[in-house]
Amino acid sequence: MGLLSRVRDGLRRTAQQLVGRFDDIARRADTADRRRIPVDAETAEALEELLISADVGVAAASRIVSGVTARARRGESLRDLVKDELRAIVGDDPTAPAPPAGNPTVVLVVGVNGTGKTTTVAKLANLAKAQGLDPLVCAADTFRAAAVEQLEIWAHRIGVDVIRARDGSDPAAVVFDALAAGRARGRSPIIVDTAGRLHTRANLMQELEKIRRIAAREVAGAPHEVLLVLDATVGQNGLAQAREFMASAGVTGVVLAKIDGTAKGGIAVAIAHDLRLPIRYLGVGESMDDLVVFSANEYVDALFEEGW
Ligand code: GDP
Repeated sequence: MGLLSRVRDGLRRTAQQLVGRFDDIARRADTADRRRIPVDAETAEALEELLISADVGVAAASRIVSGVTARARRGESLRDLVKDELRAIVGDDPTAPAPPAGNPTVVLVVGVNGTGKTTTVAKLANLAKAQGLDPLVCAADTFRAAAVEQLEIWAHRIGVDVIRARDGSDPAAVVFDALAAGRARGRSPIIVDTAGRLHTRANLMQELEKIRRIAAREVAGAPHEVLLVLDATVGQNGLAQAREFMASAGVTGVVLAKIDGTAKGGIAVAIAHDLRLPIRYLGVGESMDDLVVFSANEYVDALFEEGW
């Protein structure tokens, strides 16, 4: 399956929700007196409600509607106007420059348990391999033996080594080992799965900070990327989670997982608008291949895909 169709498939539920209702709004707007008022108040209100229902967020929805209203001219397609505004928020293509390469490149993956973090680590390793890189995975979620075992099963399947904790060892020590092993074996990127829950939130954030410090000490410029995994099905609650991680984990980008399981795929817009974080990848399913590099164009096209 091509990349675009993977994105389209992933966003199917969101698009199905959006498109029919959007067409009704556009049709009504077309029959209204668009010579005098290209986007009337009723259209603007219906559009804003529709965007909010897709979890685009109140602030972004309002910005989109103002932009559309201000720019609309007679005869212009409402769909194109909305798509332009969405693209302006989620970023041009590509959304953000790729992280600088390191020697080796160190990628920390953070997020609360259950969001799809461990699966994402395996998917990232799989993608790196497919790109001809030679990744190494580090299982630093020492709090959850099951996550480590799961990661080992996946890594074995895709043919990537895992550096894991000995029982009771410190996560930062595991990261230290992984960096040493990565250098010795010539592996890059080193993708680190971190804990998503500890005894307290403060403990968790301290642990992430410690991991960052060790990485920075051992490898110049590390961590080169800190990816926050957010569960798209959680909707706006994910934003509060994100703010917490941004404050202490130095998040540089977002992986939006489980976009396939929700009609609220507009959350990517809220993340870009409210948090000003680039979306790097979308998780579109449970298998190892179900991770796609985020593209603003593809995303916006998929949201408004016609003919569902
Ligand atoms: P963690 O606790 O954050 O490490 O989460 P896991 O990686 O263990 O994933 C939790 C559940 O979400 C598992 O059942 C995964 O198969 C599922 N999952 C992860 N990513 C995706 C995704 O992109 N789409 C779907 N549908 N499920 C996913």
